[in-house]
Amino acid sequence: MANEYEIKKQICEIGKRIYDRNMVAANDGNISVKISDNEFLCTPTGVSKGFMTPEFICKVDAKGNVLQANGNFRPSSEIKMHMRVYEKRPDVGAVVHAHPTFATSFAIAGIPLTQPIMPEAVIALGCVPIAEYGTPSTVEIPDNVEKYLPYYDAVLLESHGALTWSTDLLAAYHKMESVEFYAELLYKSKMLGGPKEFDKEQIAKLYEIRRQMGLPGKHPANICAELGGKCGGGCHSAEGCNCGSAKADEPSVEAIVAEVTKKILAQMK
Ligand SMILES: [Zn+2]
Repeated sequence: MANEYEIKKQICEIGKRIYDRNMVAANDGNISVKISDNEFLCTPTGVSKGFMTPEFICKVDAKGNVLQANGNFRPSSEIKMHMRVYEKRPDVGAVVHAHPTFATSFAIAGIPLTQPIMPEAVIALGCVPIAEYGTPSTVEIPDNVEKYLPYYDAVLLESHGALTWSTDLLAAYHKMESVEFYAELLYKSKMLGGPKEFDKEQIAKLYEIRRQMGLPGKHPANICAELGGKCGGGCHSAEGCNCGSAKADEPSVEAIVAEVTKKILAQMK
């Protein structure tokens, strides 16, 4: 692993990218990187992530307590959300939170990114559900994000923004880029009359590519195989993966409609 100073420089570089790409406004957004089981580097609160230098970066322990903070810098107010990801996902090395415009618009509209519309998004992300709204800086957000952590590597935060995580910082940042790009395509294709979705067979082939690539992280391609078709919900419906419902362990709208229709038809006979 790169030394601590190099990682601090990388955090500044990624901060500049999320700022330059309009993924955050003013002082919004936050980034963290795991450097050991009990040491994490994170961006400070109240500063623009586009103009940071390594001295800005704070260090916290696994509970979010400050280990190091220069001058008046204090760790991000959203550090609890980051720490919950590390706690529940030992495979994760970095977490990025931003407010990219298209993804955040979906989060505000309450529409999850679950439509299978282009190969890269299906392979890289699978689906991006919406974690229920929580008040920023409280434990509400980590509590609401938690149930999605075993199944996904990205979530929208309802009426707020997006959260991504991966093995290292560049990968977590790329995930944020992919979420935003996917959201933009989905938005624009909706403007053009609605996207044409992949069918089950096409999705199954893309899942197979994902499995062949051996990519790290959680994805319906792997989860569905592991859980025999019960992958926590919110992902594409594909062969061997019967999980088109929006919530875990709840029947899908389609299933309810089919059941009700059957009952009504039975009564009419
Ligand atoms: Zn935010």
